[in-house]
Order: sequence, then C-alpha cells, then structure tokens
Amino acid sequence: MGISKLDVLGQIYDIYGTFSSRLRVACVRGCTACCTQNVTMTTLEGYRIVEHLIHTGQRHLFHRLHHSSHHERFQPTITTNKLLTLCMQGDDPPEEKSCLPGSACPFLSNNECLIYLERPFACRCFFSTQKCEATDCAVVDPFLVTVNTVFLQFIEHIDAGGVFGNMIDVLLFLESEAQQKRQDIDASPNYPGGLPTNRCIPGIFVPPEHHSMIQPILQTIRKSGILH
Ligand code: SF4
Ligand code: SF4
Repeated sequence: MGISKLDVLGQIYDIYGTFSSRLRVACVRGCTACCTQNVTMTTLEGYRIVEHLIHTGQRHLFHRLHHSSHHERFQPTITTNKLLTLCMQGDDPPEEKSCLPGSACPFLSNNECLIYLERPFACRCFFSTQKCEATDCAVVDPFLVTVNTVFLQFIEHIDAGGVFGNMIDVLLFLESEAQQKRQDIDASPNYPGGLPTNRCIPGIFVPPEHHSMIQPILQTIRKSGILH
C-alpha cells in the first residue's frame, strides 16, 4: 500500500520541526498573542485535525468553531501556488482583505492550544525574533519567510485538488459525517464554493540571496522521497 497523503503531511511537519527547533526566537509556551482566528490551512491539514478530534472524543470542540464563525476573520481568496503563478506571469494578485486583528483562536484555552500536536502548518511556522507584545507585531527573519513559503507550496502541492481557507471554514466543512467518511482523500468531494482550490507547484519560489541557504532543506525533502 502506498504512503497516504496524511503520512506525507506528517513527514513534512517533522522535517520542518527539525529545521525550526534550531531557530532563535522569542516564542515560548504560553505566549499566545498570535493565536487568532486568522489561521489558514489546506483541507489535508483539516483532515488531520478532524481525525484527532474524533479519535480523542473531542467532537464538542466543533461548538467553539461554530461560535467563532460569527466573527470576522481572514478568508483568503487565493492559494500560495496560485499567487506565485500570477507573480511568475507578471500578473497582479487579487487584493486580499488584509490581516484583521482577529479574536482568539477557538482552540486556545487557558493559553494552551487544544490541538497542539495536530495544529496546522500556519501555526507551526509562525515565529518572531522579538516578543510581539513589545512591537505589536511579529518580527520575522526574511530567510524564514522564504522557507515557510516553500513548505506552504509543498503542502498545497500534496493536497492539489483540495481547498484552502480559514481554519474555521475548512473544519466546519469537514464536520459532517459524510465528509469524515472520505478517508480516501484522493476522492475529490464537492468542496464548498468560495474556498480556493489547491494547485501543484508551478516552480519553487526562492529569492536569489537564499538559494544556497535553502539547499540543505530542499535536499532533505527530496531525499525523503515523499514528493513524487
Ligand atoms: S509569534 Fe509572537 S505572540 Fe506568537 S509565540 Fe512568538 S512571540 Fe509570542
Ligand atoms: S490552532 Fe493552536 S497554535 Fe494555532 S492559533 Fe489556534 S491555539 Fe494557536
């Protein structure tokens, strides 16, 4: 039996976790100003969270998502690979409603993440070199932005045909039993309109100044054989 997309996602998370464990950042456990309702993810990442909620008897957490769905939140209209395709073609991307302040993430409880081990990549890759409280926003190393973009590209690639959106919208779509039974996530379900479709990688986007620095990471991904 071939490796499942969820297994591939787990391996990508592991590779990124090894990389990020070496970063020097201000982020510590219990620092949660960045845990807002503006988190985005793919449906593949959503399946991983939903499986966890079901297997750990935490279906009740969907109530929190319903409650949060009444609040304004960042709802992207374009995926990373689509954005990069437009850039490569010299076309202007659509204007996104820029980052909203955002209420607290529905999975945040007593300054802890209720789905920490299953959290989406957007949460795994969000680091700041200075405390956000001090500057009112994250300070992110440009090389980290490049690495994160590449990982976002790969994650979208393995979920090509799935969709991308705000975490709340994606999880509420996956809430129904009909969707949860689709464990074979190669069977393209009828995704809701309005959520942009994931695409294959049009080309890796790495600024020239980061070409050599990122090679070890790209080699690790290639050597793992998880992306065919
Ligand atoms: S990104 Fe900012 S708010 Fe989030 S953990 Fe790091 S320092 Fe804290
Ligand atoms: S899923 Fe967890 S890590 Fe991500 S924003 Fe919510 S509480 Fe924070």
